[in-house]
Amino acid sequence: MTTPVCRFCRSPLSHTLVDLGRQPLANSNLTAEQLAAGGEKTYPLHARVCAECFLVQVDDPVAADEIFDAGYAYFSSYSASWVEHARRYAEAMIARFGLGPDSLVVEIASNDGYLLQHFKAAGVPVLGIEPTANTAQAAIDKGVPTEVMFFHGETGKALAARGIKADLMAANNVLAHVPDIGGFVAGFREVLKPEGVLTFEFPHFLNMLEMVQFDTIYHEHFSYLSLLAVAQVLRANGLRAFDVELLPTHGGSLRLFCAHEASSHQETDALKTLRAR
Ligand SMILES: [Zn+2]
Repeated sequence: MTTPVCRFCRSPLSHTLVDLGRQPLANSNLTAEQLAAGGEKTYPLHARVCAECFLVQVDDPVAADEIFDAGYAYFSSYSASWVEHARRYAEAMIARFGLGPDSLVVEIASNDGYLLQHFKAAGVPVLGIEPTANTAQAAIDKGVPTEVMFFHGETGKALAARGIKADLMAANNVLAHVPDIGGFVAGFREVLKPEGVLTFEFPHFLNMLEMVQFDTIYHEHFSYLSLLAVAQVLRANGLRAFDVELLPTHGGSLRLFCAHEASSHQETDALKTLRAR
């Protein structure tokens, strides 16, 4: 058996965090007939930590398109509390960064428009980027312009070449879901304006450790993210974090505020405190 390598820095992964054996895919529900027939597919679920960059990650024996297929079942708007979380985010970002009719907000993995609809209602232009066609169509049906694509460095370049430059970019609960985390973050550098702001929300690895949230480990979650690991991925792409909020969502999440390395955004005490922790 070959030693797996880190999905970010390519170092060999020799440290196990937890090996959960073989498990079925979490969101691929069986029909009654499939269940009766038996033979549900299982895949290794083994979380490891990289000794070089400290990224915690699971092996990916499952092709991404087997998980996120055209019938992907998750529509964000099914959760009223998540839609309300998005509404409050929009309100706060519009106030803090002075967004208006001349701004552009781009969300990556925009799902059914649960978040961008709130910016649109406030008169701020939006664009959604979403890889699953059925959720993207639901967004378009509610008037949220959305393009069906996987986001990464190359598609980011293509968007920028079309003049798409964002004042605010949002990516909520997607950073942990991309196999090539470095290539994904490269896209933000292309699309973000020089003084633009980018926010990532993701479950905080420190909480997972402290509260033994082993049941948040599943095949769709390729990475388990700390400030330390994400800061390295950002740095490799000319980006940096400058502020953070601690959120109660998903067992304890971070909302990391990021910008270009050379931008004027000042680092806050909240970020310094978290780094010290
Ligand atoms: Zn690594």
